[in-house]
Amino acid sequence: MIETKNRLRFAPSPTGYLHVGGARTALFNWLYVKRFGGQFLLRIEDTDKARSTDESTKAIFEGMEWLGLSWDEEVVYQGANLERHRADALKLLETGAAYRDFTTTEDLERWREEAKERKESFKFKREWTQFSPEEEAARVERGDPFAIRFKVPVGGETAWEDLVHERIAFPNKDIDDFVILRSDGTPTYNLAVVSDDIAMGITIVMRGDDHISNTPKQILLYEALGKTVPKFAHLPMIHGIDGKKLSKRHGATAVGDYQHEGLLPDALLNFLALLGWSPGEDREVMTRAEMIELFATKGLQKKAAIFDPKKLEWMNGQHLSLMTVEQLEPTVTSALVSEGVTTKSELDARPEWYHRLIDVLKIRSRLIDDIVRQAKVYFQDDIEYASDAVDKHWKDKEGSLNILKAAENKLANVDAASWDEATLEAALRGLAEELGIGAGKIFQPLRVALTGLNVSPGIFDVLILLGKDRSLRRIQLSEKYLNS
Ligand code: GLU
Repeated sequence: MIETKNRLRFAPSPTGYLHVGGARTALFNWLYVKRFGGQFLLRIEDTDKARSTDESTKAIFEGMEWLGLSWDEEVVYQGANLERHRADALKLLETGAAYRDFTTTEDLERWREEAKERKESFKFKREWTQFSPEEEAARVERGDPFAIRFKVPVGGETAWEDLVHERIAFPNKDIDDFVILRSDGTPTYNLAVVSDDIAMGITIVMRGDDHISNTPKQILLYEALGKTVPKFAHLPMIHGIDGKKLSKRHGATAVGDYQHEGLLPDALLNFLALLGWSPGEDREVMTRAEMIELFATKGLQKKAAIFDPKKLEWMNGQHLSLMTVEQLEPTVTSALVSEGVTTKSELDARPEWYHRLIDVLKIRSRLIDDIVRQAKVYFQDDIEYASDAVDKHWKDKEGSLNILKAAENKLANVDAASWDEATLEAALRGLAEELGIGAGKIFQPLRVALTGLNVSPGIFDVLILLGKDRSLRRIQLSEKYLNS
């Protein structure tokens, strides 16, 4: 095994549900570690007490667990590290990398107004809050509130080799002296993140590219604290199919919603993996193991990724058909039971039949729901005929009736013990020959009689799944319907 020191983290703020964009970021960090070795850590950024909730933290854990994105080591709660954040701010104050800012909110508002009147963009000026050492000492002595601001170098630039975007540089003159500790003693985002990433030994910071403008500030903090700057990888934003930032308008954005809809976690992971990463050679459908094997930062893309729900559904269908019946069984069983289609004991009573049912339906389904919808036909005696099926295949009532009667006779003569594909096929194809018509002219009206639907699995699969008695009863029912 290769020894690596990779340490990556996912650092969500627990202020809502686990967003699919967050899950995508978590996945890429996780894939990197699985591919190249190291640790994948989870940090809950709960310093914003007003917006953070336990419920949201729970949703993050549940979503990650459902997706199988397991993390190493204990979860880190940012809010537990406030003392260290403060100590780091004071260290920077002591070394002169930061300074006390006695500005009041009123001052700030006034300066903002003045800048607006001059039609200039507002930039904080260090001189506004520089006092003689005596004056500063007196203010501290008096207990005047102050924030701590970072002293951004006046000239030059702050740059890094981004693992996605290559070189990114910000002229230092464009970076405001930013607050690292507020006057109430709470750290700002940039300080808390850097302090925690240092403490956790993070080597690569992989996150959404909405954080690019924070990165130069964070690099300056690492340097001022005398620590090694990690590598950065900024992942593209996720947009809806209309090209706008993904939001609830585009449909479900919470991982939990997809879980409750019965989506397969591996399908969602595969779909998310393609949002900003291309494994190359037009590769799309991948198992978890394949994603790990193929993952490389050079396949990461800069341009925004498009979240297409249709593609997600398609992807789910691909994974459904890849899964074995045994793998699918627990999920399908709980869906069938909770929908009231059948009971667990009824399924347990005929495992072979049930496995065949799943096997036949899974390749024709995109969602577990599709399996459940199609499965109903094989559990219930009452049947509804879909109007599109009736219009299309029973248009000629009398003709259909004759065909169904003939089919009933043929099938009634098949012994229940040899109710298998070969025998059934011989019987029905034989009938087609006798009647001098194409086999489809029998299969289609028969399909409507047996399932009430236009589309279904192959007719022999349907007959086998229904069994002889139920099949014949259904054909008789359809004859009654056509006679009425
Ligand atoms: N808590 C930040 C967020 O949810 C992420 C911070 C980071 O990855 O540096 O956007």
